[in-house]
Amino acid sequence: MWHASVLTIFPDMFPGPLGLSLAGKALAAKIWALDAIDIRAHAAGKHRTVDDTPAGGGPGMVMKTDVLARALDAIPPDGRPRLAMSARGTRLTQSRIAALAGGPGAVILCGRFEGIDERLIAARQLEEISIGDFVLSGGEIAALALLDACVRLLPGVMGKEASGAEESFAAGLLEYPQYTKPPLWEGQPIPEVLLSGDHGKIAQWRRAEAERLTRERRPDLWAAYLARKKP
Ligand code: SAH
Repeated sequence: MWHASVLTIFPDMFPGPLGLSLAGKALAAKIWALDAIDIRAHAAGKHRTVDDTPAGGGPGMVMKTDVLARALDAIPPDGRPRLAMSARGTRLTQSRIAALAGGPGAVILCGRFEGIDERLIAARQLEEISIGDFVLSGGEIAALALLDACVRLLPGVMGKEASGAEESFAAGLLEYPQYTKPPLWEGQPIPEVLLSGDHGKIAQWRRAEAERLTRERRPDLWAAYLARKKP
């Protein structure tokens, strides 16, 4: 069973939205398991303090090494990658998601306040992962996004096994546009080729549209795609 352990000071945020829909059904079906570990349970003292003022001064608070180390070290090493959600981390990609989904699961540390003491990240060799170039107030929503993307790739979670293969990023391209009935809506028709029943032509059109959208919207992906195509 794919196993996620999330370390957080807000364990009530889990499973949250992952308790519904595809991920929720898969959770109930034991295709994956989730424990939300309360970091505060590993803190000492009456106040169970998890943070302290930043060395060097400045605003906010920083999550303390000792508490986080106790919380992490309470999880026996079991081959699962240990991740820290971080705005400074490596940008998350669909290929990293696919690799994580293909493994045993993940241990995910969620930051809060100004973030996590750097020494903890180094000492426990955490892989810092960012979900985009913007700042959240905590790692929990980032962890939920990462888990959602992983869980939908687990065998038996998506309705059609094939639906993952053609999606955005799978081939290094954005997905082609999708349409459904009615054939004419507010004067806009569904592209004729999609109603032709000619599967070869449809595949060709979709490929061309995927390439056009990627070229127009994501020059970075387009350049990488071209570089891969031409050896
Ligand atoms: N001072 C930090 C931001 C702290 S935000 C900075 O400038 O980089 C508090 C926590 O939210 C972080 O520790 C991290 O766990 C989480 N977080 C914020 N933005 C994120 C992002 N884009 N991706 C992943 N996690 C993020």
